[in-house]
Amino acid sequence: MVNRIRRGAMAWLLPWRCTLCGNPGMPGLDLCAACRADLPWNTSACPGCARPLPAGASAWRCGACLSHPPAWDIAFSALHYALPVDALVQQLKFHGRLARARLLGELLAQALQSERHTPWPAALIPVPLHPNRLRERGFNQARELALPLARHFAIPLRDDLARRIRATAPQVGLTAAARARNLRGAFAIDGAPPAHVALIDDVLTTGSTLTAMSLALRAAGSMQIEVWTPARSTPEHAPAQTR
Ligand SMILES: [Zn+2]
Ligand SMILES: [Zn+2]
Repeated sequence: MVNRIRRGAMAWLLPWRCTLCGNPGMPGLDLCAACRADLPWNTSACPGCARPLPAGASAWRCGACLSHPPAWDIAFSALHYALPVDALVQQLKFHGRLARARLLGELLAQALQSERHTPWPAALIPVPLHPNRLRERGFNQARELALPLARHFAIPLRDDLARRIRATAPQVGLTAAARARNLRGAFAIDGAPPAHVALIDDVLTTGSTLTAMSLALRAAGSMQIEVWTPARSTPEHAPAQTR
């Protein structure tokens, strides 16, 4: 116990250090200013799907979102799922490096803070893992990412609202229609969710998981649904393993 307290105090006293190059970090961030500036920021993205808008685009949403609006209202991804962001996400998910969640969550919070002009959601809802997967991994990366966001914005983290009730087959290699079928009925919502919520996940790729969850939340009464992820990937560059 004493050791734990001492270690905690030491961690507090140690300066922040850049995860990528080892130089002193910026205050409150495991990253130096130069490495932060070099990250693949997802600027001028479509607010519907968080994909980059073509240069000089005049519409405020991309053509895909205008013709087929997503199940959620707004999507925001701070970074592209490209080096070194993909490596940070994989270290978090597959190697249990929870400090990566603190870094990615804080980067997402800073990007949201600087670009946002609309009201804030009343709850942050991490995409739940199926209990079997949670037991296997020992943590839910989406919840770990939601923690720094909840702290940064003082928005309640509500991991009691949504449950994954059906284990689903891996999504990789499935068509969009097959993914949607695969996820039908995968989530249950407990109680009445707030009208305005933000769903938190690590990477937005096809969006099939977040679509299934958005539909479940809307059926349970949510009116304004946002999707926040540190990284945006495209199906062509999908993560090796999705969940
Ligand atoms: Zn650095
Ligand atoms: Zn779009």
